Amino acid sequence: MSVLVYAENADGKFKKSVFEAVSYARAIADQNNTTLTAISIGNVAADELSALGQYGAHKILNVSTDKLKNFINQAYASVIAKASEAEQADVVVISNTFSGRGLAPRVAVKLGAGIADGAVSLPDTGNGKFLIKKTAFSGKAFATVELTSANKVIALIPNSYKVIENATGAKPEDFTVETNESDFKALLKEIVKSTDKVSLPDAEIVVSAGRGLKGPENWGMIEELADLLGAATACSKPVSDAGWRPHSEHVGQTGIAVSPNLYIAIGISGAIQHLAGISSSKVIVVINKDPEAPFYKVADYGIVGDAFEIVPKLIEAVKTY
Ligand code: FAD
Repeated sequence: MSVLVYAENADGKFKKSVFEAVSYARAIADQNNTTLTAISIGNVAADELSALGQYGAHKILNVSTDKLKNFINQAYASVIAKASEAEQADVVVISNTFSGRGLAPRVAVKLGAGIADGAVSLPDTGNGKFLIKKTAFSGKAFATVELTSANKVIALIPNSYKVIENATGAKPEDFTVETNESDFKALLKEIVKSTDKVSLPDAEIVVSAGRGLKGPENWGMIEELADLLGAATACSKPVSDAGWRPHSEHVGQTGIAVSPNLYIAIGISGAIQHLAGISSSKVIVVINKDPEAPFYKVADYGIVGDAFEIVPKLIEAVKTY
């Protein structure tokens, strides 16, 4: 057996979630006394590719052709499946990012593999089983699933596994694959970034606000706090429905699922549909003037009080820290 991890790049660079996935995949390889191969698709410089060896990849495959320059779900899934077959990998690890969520099931279908998407822990391989804890019901619960197939695909939630330095000295090598024309029916032509701010799904800190903020004119303090903390801003659904904030910031069951190290919820009641999108956050801080707000039930820290008094004080405290 061997393990394959897909290293997704953003504009030729690897994000922290890639190094988490590589560290996680290496831990699975170690559990099974086998080796780890990383595969990158697209234009990534050799130095950046070599970083995959810093976190435990024994072999680094680089697929860099003009045709595969931009992310195409179907085509990338074919390449990963072919690499998995070439490497005789039994386990394929993919980050559970926006693109990873589309890729993982496609790779699983191509390999006839069982899939654990939204995984948050290493597999428990005791008694010859392969059990994994994963998020379920749009993040409202955790489930433990057993993968019984020979091939297995795991989509790992960002921020759920630590980055572990484990240098192997591996150097990238070119990997050539035949592509199928049928994989190129929908082509990504261009991505226009609407902002240079921290991207919400990848953020390590999220400052999120709800209807308790009263109106869009009051988001200045939320943005200031987020900027000071290097955080992404987010909001509850009614806030984006009302047009106070863009829909891209809406977190929850019908919005984006986040898994930051720190989620600060300001003036948000904590409805179950909102909690569905934040349940894998490591530390949750709630600021709400209602001590009975449901959000306090899942909070690690709570400040009961008026956001308009507390947030400016927090900003001053962070500035003087
Ligand atoms: P409110 O419920 O109005 O709560 C505002 C909170 O602010 C209150 O707790 C109040 O005590 C507090 N507050 C008021 N003033 C202050 C102040 N000055 N200082 C401090 N605190 C203050 N919601 C989502 O967020 N995401 C989803 O994905 C989502 N999907 C849904 C899907 C379905 C099918 C349905 C039916 C609903 C969905 N909702 C979703 C809506 C959800 O049920 C809640 O209505 C919503 O999350 C409430 O938003 P809120 O907490 O911002 O507003």
